[in-house]
Amino acid sequence: MTSGNYERIVEKISNISGIKKEEIEEKIKEKRSKLSGLISKEGAAQVIASELGVSFEDEILKLGELLPGMRNVKVLGKVLNISPVRSFKTKRGDESKVVNLWIADDSSNVRVVLWDTNHVALIEKGDIKDGTVIEIKNGSMRDNEIHLGNFSEINVSKETIEDIVTKKVFKEKEIVNFLKGESVSVRAFVVQAFEPKFFNVCPECKKKVEKEGDIFHCNTHGKVVPEKRAILTLVLDDGTESIRAVLFQEPLNKLGITDFEDLEKLSKQKGDLLGKEMIFSGNIKLNNFFNNLEIIVEDVNEVDMEETINKLEKSNS
Ligand SMILES: [Zn+2]
Repeated sequence: MTSGNYERIVEKISNISGIKKEEIEEKIKEKRSKLSGLISKEGAAQVIASELGVSFEDEILKLGELLPGMRNVKVLGKVLNISPVRSFKTKRGDESKVVNLWIADDSSNVRVVLWDTNHVALIEKGDIKDGTVIEIKNGSMRDNEIHLGNFSEINVSKETIEDIVTKKVFKEKEIVNFLKGESVSVRAFVVQAFEPKFFNVCPECKKKVEKEGDIFHCNTHGKVVPEKRAILTLVLDDGTESIRAVLFQEPLNKLGITDFEDLEKLSKQKGDLLGKEMIFSGNIKLNNFFNNLEIIVEDVNEVDMEETINKLEKSNS
């Protein structure tokens, strides 16, 4: 978990522009109050950077310094994982390809999406594989991913990167500052819990299956005996704002929701959640139906646990 993103970006602006950090933070504060706080600290920092003519183009940014909306980014990272190459038809009817890879450095990790067939070919030929250190130029940030088009460059680098961050990084943030596409972590209270919903998944691929007559049918695996899954929606509040939170199996168990068969027990477990304060980590998505942000929770931790870790880190440094 890192919260140093904002501080790092202020430092970077200060280094490039030669203006004192305090002065830049003052400008950011002014900009935010002018916009009635509608913009995040990180967002305001970007606006100030462009007003000062500060460009990050010539600088190699750490992956932890990337912000949504940045253009022409230059980064260095070690490939952690590559998805299978996927073919698709463009609107014009041409055959095209896309591939995702995860890269990491010593600050964070990020998903990179390659849309250019020449770039995809580097993967297909095996020039870029797991463990390769690559340099990216002219990438664009779309939400929290780096997207590469025909104008972008991707090259194998001779640099080595030690101590890469392989664990998914959740940025500690207040709910009011959540942005679509971010992976965040927040300490918040459960203020509302809706009735859980149930659905069935294929035991092989874990995709949702529908009942056809008396049998369950998976598009890939045919007739299957499904596994039952639960989904629970909560409302979380951290004092700055509230947000809908969607939880599936594993985080639900960690929250103490375990009895999906015994509805009476389930109702009691659900009731026990109200007013509970915990650390929720997950991804911010736009809910198209309600047209607001929600968090898809991937992990839940006790507040005590966080304090213990903080203490341990302090005593180690
Ligand atoms: Zn299946």
